Amino acid sequence: MKILDLISRYGHEQIVFCHEQATGLRAVIAIHNTILGPALGGCRMWPFESEEEAIMDVIRLSRGMTYKNAAAGLNLGGGKAVIIGDPNKDKSEALFRAFGRFVQSLGGRYITAEDVGTSVEDMEYIKMETEFVSGLPEQSGGSGDPSSFTALGTFEGIRASVKYRLGLNNLKGIRVAIQGAGHVGYYLCELLHEAGAELIVSDIFEEKVEKVVSDFGAEAVEGDAIYSVDADVFAPCALGAIVNDDSIEKLKFKIIAGGANNQLLDEKIHGKKLKEKRILYAPDYLINAGGVINVFFEVINEYNRDRVTKKVKNIYTILMEVYHIADKEDITTVEAAARLAEKRLNLIKNVHQNYLR
Ligand code: NAD
Repeated sequence: MKILDLISRYGHEQIVFCHEQATGLRAVIAIHNTILGPALGGCRMWPFESEEEAIMDVIRLSRGMTYKNAAAGLNLGGGKAVIIGDPNKDKSEALFRAFGRFVQSLGGRYITAEDVGTSVEDMEYIKMETEFVSGLPEQSGGSGDPSSFTALGTFEGIRASVKYRLGLNNLKGIRVAIQGAGHVGYYLCELLHEAGAELIVSDIFEEKVEKVVSDFGAEAVEGDAIYSVDADVFAPCALGAIVNDDSIEKLKFKIIAGGANNQLLDEKIHGKKLKEKRILYAPDYLINAGGVINVFFEVINEYNRDRVTKKVKNIYTILMEVYHIADKEDITTVEAAARLAEKRLNLIKNVHQNYLR
């Protein structure tokens, strides 16, 4: 694996390999881009089968964070970290503190947070060694669970998509199929129900489905049946890669707008297929940016729920802009979102260059 070639292809600034003998820490921190501000992105702990797999993951995910933060209008760059290990077996205070010391050594160029395989408790250990950690619980001075803001942003994204695709100003009677009634899914169901939408829900845990059925009058469906239900909007709020060659044939929705990460198996191929099927797709990293917006205000030490709410609601406007770009340029919404992010990055880069001249 030629790492310097790889990171120049992806446009990274810096990759940091971290190792500590005593704790067995093996981690990689990827700083993709800091034009807009410090690189922010979660720390994932996973039993990667190989070093290559871990490196590719951190490289792709950190670039994704640059686009997500830029498109959401945040003054944050993109970064990510991976710890190679089994979160069910290999966690310890010493391991996370060792990781925290590496984060600290970067002097604020990278700010870490919770991700798949790491928890708020792990962040508390990291905080013992570095100030550059975010997403802490409220009792530790952090911004707490971001799920309700992720759901709010997703709700605003659904509203924008319904307006754009169906020309409607409200969600009364709109049928929304929600895959996953976990943290984000439950809050989203609540908002949709209040707005008068009809809900169809699936989850692998029966009790989660039962709760939204009893709380919000949702209709329950099992497993993959969610892909073929008759509804206006599909809101994936569980897994990634659910829009793929198999599922895409079944989809009859007019809109896909949900909170899950990495919804398209292949952004290029499946983004294009959705466009051909005239299914309006809300790019996932844009519509689910509520969580990172919440963390942003914690990072800049200006946490205030009203300001977070205002910024999260702005996802409506950003999505509208993306849809207009996509139609005007005859490109997919995935490409349009990337253009929007790149436009902002280039603008700021040019400002720097002009300033220096
Ligand atoms: P969660 O674990 O609380 O909820 C996920 C739910 O999906 C669970 O109830 C789970 O049982 C269900 N599920 C799993 N497989 C399923 C399947 N095949 N069919 C139906 N349901 C299934 O997680 P969450 O925090 O609500 O996050 C949901 C998604 O949103 C994830 O993709 C996550 O990466 C993304 N996301 C979350 C946040 C946040 O603030 N929590 C922010 C950005 C993105």
